[in-house]
Amino acid sequence: MRFTLAMLVGKLVGLLGKVTSRATNLPGELALKICPDLFRHFQFDGKVLAVTGSNGKTSTSNMVAFILRENGKSVAHNAKGSNLLGGVATTLLTHSNFGGRVPHDFVVLEVDERYSRLIFRDFSPDYMLVTNLFRDQLTRNGNVDVIIEKLQEAIKPSVKLILNANDPISANLSPENERVYYGVDRTSHSTGESLNITHDAKVCPKCYHKMQYSFFHYNHIGAYTCSGCGYTNPKTAYQITDVDLEQGDMLFNGSRVHTEYRSVFNIFNMAGALSACCELGIKAVDACTALSRFRLMKERYDEMMVGSRRAVMILSKNQNPVSFDQSISHVLDLKGDKTVVVYVGNINHTNNRDTTWLYDISFERLQKEVSSVVCTGPRAYDLAVRLSLGGFTPEQIQVERDLGKLRPVMEQTTGTICILTELYDAKAVLEVITK
Ligand SMILES: [Zn+2]
Repeated sequence: MRFTLAMLVGKLVGLLGKVTSRATNLPGELALKICPDLFRHFQFDGKVLAVTGSNGKTSTSNMVAFILRENGKSVAHNAKGSNLLGGVATTLLTHSNFGGRVPHDFVVLEVDERYSRLIFRDFSPDYMLVTNLFRDQLTRNGNVDVIIEKLQEAIKPSVKLILNANDPISANLSPENERVYYGVDRTSHSTGESLNITHDAKVCPKCYHKMQYSFFHYNHIGAYTCSGCGYTNPKTAYQITDVDLEQGDMLFNGSRVHTEYRSVFNIFNMAGALSACCELGIKAVDACTALSRFRLMKERYDEMMVGSRRAVMILSKNQNPVSFDQSISHVLDLKGDKTVVVYVGNINHTNNRDTTWLYDISFERLQKEVSSVVCTGPRAYDLAVRLSLGGFTPEQIQVERDLGKLRPVMEQTTGTICILTELYDAKAVLEVITK
């Protein structure tokens, strides 16, 4: 009875949202209030795949849904990254009938790694893809060990795991569960030393001895062996090889796949998505053909002209140093003279007090590569201190805390304008820069 009422209210509110084009998580949130064990009542005709991890879960799950649909499958998917309880509930109730039956071939759910244990309290996915695990919003989430504990609570014994063999942390998740691994061969961007400050696997997650790396893809993602217990990259069922980052071409289990977005992070997302689709029964060659047609949503990256200058906007996740490191790698890939504009709002859940995460970002990599860095936003001065400690000269650092006064400062800089900020702040920054 409660479930029927919850479905009725949820669907009605969802419909109203569609009419007023205000899609929110509200239908699911209301339904969960009315029926707290809502998730228990859904029945799935097809397989359910959960996609989680610190970075790349939105892009990866979007790729999975795209590949499946291109191969003629019907998919229920929370495409907009609504990955908390309300968002997942909204997705399921809008894709089911009143009885709670979800008639699709597949359900692809992006889920927040910390909320997964609540989302999967009353039902379980058949498969779970974990992209990677890093420190992320440290003051809110705690360190990686805490995230692992929470995630392991969500993983029931029946779940088959699809794991990144190049990540020593997530590769070691729930060791009793059935699993397959995917990996990416060394690329031209691989390095012998970690270029990043954020490195969450200097010691073995099993025995705490020192880890040795023969190469790094980025941060702690690479080829590793523990000097104590011998823990090393597990054998992969799916492997990306022959990566040509200039052309955006590579092989996945021997099938050619192409991308326009040529970063190692994106290649890992592709590897995860292709592996998941193969596990769901799509042939590797068909998955690769479909994925080669995939276009990333422009939400995280955009290009524009500001007067006669080229500008690129690269967005990072809030208080997520690895995400910021990826944005910096993107800046380094751009040719020619460039100026970097960094806006840090450091919003909400820490009452704007935490700036420690700025010290986990490898800004040092920019020091010899850019003419200047313009620091702006509420944390402009903290950012300037961070850069100064990172070896930037006073001439390289410009500070304008007030976003409204940024234009004249920018006009004195040269080269391509690279704007680095967080998802939440993008709109405000863009308005000032392009007006
Ligand atoms: Zn070990």
